[in-house]
Amino acid sequence: MQLQLQTWQEVEAYLQTSRGIILPIGSTEQHGPNGLIGTDAICAEVIARGVGEAAAALVAPTITVGMAQHHLGFAGSMTLRPSTLIAVLKDMVESLVRHGFERFYFLNGHGGNIATLTAAFSEIYATRSLGAASNLPSIKCRLKNWWQNQEVHDLAKGLYGNAEGSHATPSEVSVTQFAYPEAIKSALLEPPVAPWGDFADAADYRRKFPDGRIGSNPGLATPEAGRRLYDAAVAAITKDYRSWVHA
Ligand SMILES: [Zn+2]
Repeated sequence: MQLQLQTWQEVEAYLQTSRGIILPIGSTEQHGPNGLIGTDAICAEVIARGVGEAAAALVAPTITVGMAQHHLGFAGSMTLRPSTLIAVLKDMVESLVRHGFERFYFLNGHGGNIATLTAAFSEIYATRSLGAASNLPSIKCRLKNWWQNQEVHDLAKGLYGNAEGSHATPSEVSVTQFAYPEAIKSALLEPPVAPWGDFADAADYRRKFPDGRIGSNPGLATPEAGRRLYDAAVAAITKDYRSWVHA
């Protein structure tokens, strides 16, 4: 159930039955020669909507721009600096707290968001922990990366082995191909499996990973694999959401 497709009365009625909401968060950044700029936001959004249907949970609008400073060497990439993203997340959560939401389940599609999301949770909790605001309602935030559960991990490993890599992975590209078959791209990938390594800023990243990929061969992506990964992710995350929101 998408928040944006409800009326305010419907949201009030929902709050009588649940205090939880799923917030998809992704990124707008290069994903190599055949991956879409919106890959991380698309994966988070479609999986969140699947979980929302399965768990009868509200799904907030997707946060489509994340912390992706290291991708700015490639055209089309956008970033919020960590401090900006923390401010955005705080305001979104506090808006929903005002209406009675208490459980915030961030379904994340981008590894680069993890540190900032975790810091944002600490900022939100700190406001409550510091004396003056101790009368505020007690809330909980959870970070769930869609690819980090046993089911998706095992499936990706079986499909792609070491060619999964860590950026512009065949798994995430497959999920976007399943979601948007009309936008499937093909490109020559040389070498087929990209190099591994660490990085600092955007110039450093571009120097080390000239076509944008890290450790992956997204040429192996297919929409059929995308459907299997989507199904596995929705099933695993629905279970996780249900047990967490009712705890
Ligand atoms: Zn990605």
